[in-house]
Order: sequence, then structure tokens, then C-alpha cells
Amino acid sequence: MTVFKTAARLCALSLATTLTATLATQAAAETVGIAMPTKSSARWISDGESMVRQFEEAGYDTDLQYAEDDIPTQLSQIENMIVKGVDVLVIASIDGTTLSSALQQASDLGIEVIAYDRLIRGSENVDYYATFDNFQVGVLQAQYIVDALELADGDGPYNIELFGGSPDDNNAYFFYNGAMSVLQPYIDNGQLVVRSGQTGMDTVSTLRWDGSVAQARMDNLLSAYYSDARVDAVLSPYDGLSIGIISSLKGVGYGSGDLPMPVITGQDAEVPSVKSILAGEQTMTVFKDTRELARVTVGMVDALFRGTEPEINDTSTYDNGVKVVPSYLLVPISVDEDNWEDVLVDSGYYSEDEIR
Ligand code: BGC
Repeated sequence: MTVFKTAARLCALSLATTLTATLATQAAAETVGIAMPTKSSARWISDGESMVRQFEEAGYDTDLQYAEDDIPTQLSQIENMIVKGVDVLVIASIDGTTLSSALQQASDLGIEVIAYDRLIRGSENVDYYATFDNFQVGVLQAQYIVDALELADGDGPYNIELFGGSPDDNNAYFFYNGAMSVLQPYIDNGQLVVRSGQTGMDTVSTLRWDGSVAQARMDNLLSAYYSDARVDAVLSPYDGLSIGIISSLKGVGYGSGDLPMPVITGQDAEVPSVKSILAGEQTMTVFKDTRELARVTVGMVDALFRGTEPEINDTSTYDNGVKVVPSYLLVPISVDEDNWEDVLVDSGYYSEDEIR
């Protein structure tokens, strides 16, 4: 299918030489359209920079666009890339269900599409998916809570509140389901108590991953359910939400006197959150090396233009509602005050100065 689409495109361009020779010489001139969701979170800036660097090193041109979490903006950026004649699209979608017509247009022109980090749903025109093991992200966050509260030793009951990611991001469900696969047994046996009773993605999600929305919800939870009790853990799926949740907690005195900070999870190892971990506020984060995700994506694109099959390691997990998208899943890493230097500094992701 992939090789077929690439070949169809080359035919359409009326290239006269043999397919193999054409593919080899084409590589240098191909343009990769890269659509990223927002610059408001540092991880997407790293993703974009890593991809531009690595694509250019591999001889490709790039067209990188950010949409500031606005769905129509991302759609028109992608449509413009198609009109301008990009040769392949790499898309980290804002709302994974709104791109079908643009992707059909891309497919009609033989432009292949790689879903980057977030699955694009409801379209058959998604050729590959490069991401992390998203279910495992949630497992790592929840397991950290279980270990920190020593639930396996029977401790408790402890109070926990749950936050989910954006309901239009397929990843958010994987994070939540991964976390609940670990937490649910402890909720069922009473070692964990959700005092608000608010569970399930339809109740705990946070539109557009907005930290101020999470902060407002935490304010409400604290005033409605914790005037005479303490919250011991907060499942937060993303550092940007954790920062908002922590502000809310600090606002009512957590982290001082006899009110310790709850165990608070996160994701992306963004600099403010790593600093927060060192300050004893956020407890952990999940690091996903965006350089590696860029490497996998560049490898996929390169394989497509060479007429070979991209490397994948998962052919069953990511059903987008129309097809199961062949995927490559990278491994997320749990980071806390004990291993942040090994994972983040020794690997060259951050310098020590950026954190301290
Ligand atoms: C990404 C996370 C990120 C979140 C908010 C998700 O799709 O996988 O790494 O924290 O979006 O940007």
C-alpha cells in the first residue's frame, strides 16, 4: 500500500527513470510538512526542533507549522501544505477527528501521512503512527502513586483525585485507562478513596490540556470535598496540568506546616516541572524523549521514499475507528528526584544549568 502510493505519486510526476533510481535521487528534494499542535508546551517545541534538525540532516526540506491549539488553524495549515506540494505529512493533531477531508485530499495526491504522537482518528488515510506506549505512561504514573503510598503493603485509606487529558486527544484515554488499570483495584478495596466521586474520562477530562482549567477544577474539589480532609494523591496526566493543580493546592496551604503536598504525577519532564520536583512539590513526571520520536519518524519517512517498509513494532493497539494503524511505540520513563540527572542531564536532553 505504502510503496504503491509512493510509486503512484512518482508516476503522476511523469518521472522517466526506473522506480528505484528515481526514489534514490528524489530523497534530497522531498519536503516534509510538519503540523504541530502548540508552542505553549515546551515538549512540542522540542519535537519540532528535533524533527527539523534530523530531517534536514537526512537531506529533506521541512515546512514546520504550529497551530496554537486552534483546530481550524491546524486544518488550514495542513491544507496549505498540501496545496504547496509537500511530499509527506507528519501531523500531531489537536483534535484527532477533524482532519478526514484534508487527509483524503492528501491521499488523492499520493501524499502519505504519519500520525505523530497522537493518533488521527476516523480516517483510512493515516499510513503510520509514531508514538510512545501511551497506556504504559498511565501505568507508570499510577504505579508511582501505589508505591509512594505503600498500597501494596495494605496502607490506607488515602484520598485521591483524578485528572484526565483532553477528550479530543486519543492519547488521553490511553493514559487514563493505563492509570486506572493500576488504581482501580485499590479504589475497589477502599485503600484509595475518590472523595469527590468524580471518575471516568467524561467527568475528569481537561479540554485542550489547559492548566488553568485543571487549577479551577482543583479549587472546586478542594472547597467542596476537602474542608475537613486531606488529599493524599493527585493523578495528573501532564506537567502543564500538574503546575495548575499545585498552585491550587498551595493556595489552601498544602506544602507548608502540617499539610504535606500530595503525591502528584505528571508527564513530559518539562523544565518547570523538573524544578518543581526538586522543590518537593510535584512528585514525578514521565519522560518521553522527543529526539527519539523524531528519529523514528524520520526513519519512517525515509523508508517510504526509499520504497521500503517503515519499521513498526505494534500492529494491534491503535485502531482509529476505520483501521488499525501500524505503529512504532517508544518506551516512556518514570522520573523523580532520584533519577532526573541520569535520565535528563546525562542523556543531554537538558543541561544541569537549565534545571538548577
Ligand atoms: C502527549 C503528551 C502531552 C499532552 C499535552 C499528549 O498527546 O502525548 O506528551 O503531555 O498531549 O500536550
